[in-house]
Amino acid sequence: MTLELRCRCGKVRGTVDVRRAYARATCYCGDCQAYARHLGTSGVMDAHGGTDIVAMNPDAVTFTAGEEHISGLCLQEGGPLRWYAGCCRTPLGNTPRDGKVAYVGIVSTCLPDKVAVDAACGPPGRIVLNAGSALDDVRSTPLAMATGGLRIAAGILMAKLRGQVPSLFFDAGGQPHRTAHPLGPQERASARLESA
Ligand SMILES: [Zn+2]
Ligand SMILES: [Zn+2]
Repeated sequence: MTLELRCRCGKVRGTVDVRRAYARATCYCGDCQAYARHLGTSGVMDAHGGTDIVAMNPDAVTFTAGEEHISGLCLQEGGPLRWYAGCCRTPLGNTPRDGKVAYVGIVSTCLPDKVAVDAACGPPGRIVLNAGSALDDVRSTPLAMATGGLRIAAGILMAKLRGQVPSLFFDAGGQPHRTAHPLGPQERASARLESA
């Protein structure tokens, strides 16, 4: 099942094969919150400070237009790389720094067909990551969290066993196709990012 991927303004377009999704999770970590504040795009964070992410194999994602608008940034030294559509500051996905790990957390803001996402990946909020940094109390059952974590880990491991090197944002050597810029001091302050 293939869903449309699209930035808010429509310049960056692509598809996502949700059969290759590992799990859908809501992340409440301070880094994701700072990222949403930095981009300033409405609707990325929920009322509790959570970002809805569909974790998947990067090979499930294909860009069909506007790849030249994709930019990268990095909030913390050593932290994940965050890719977004520079044309309209729509977040696209987060990846580890190591391009050989088959993981991308696609931010659901760039998946316009919410009904299809719910049908394919289940409703948002079942699996919660970093609930301790939520803006208020959020709930997730330990079973849901463990299941989500296991599905993500299993997906990454299976790709590694197949010898697959993800190519969406990285070259065969594991280097990013684009520079992921670190935030400057001013940007860090306005995103209310704590120092590492
Ligand atoms: Zn755009
Ligand atoms: Zn996060």
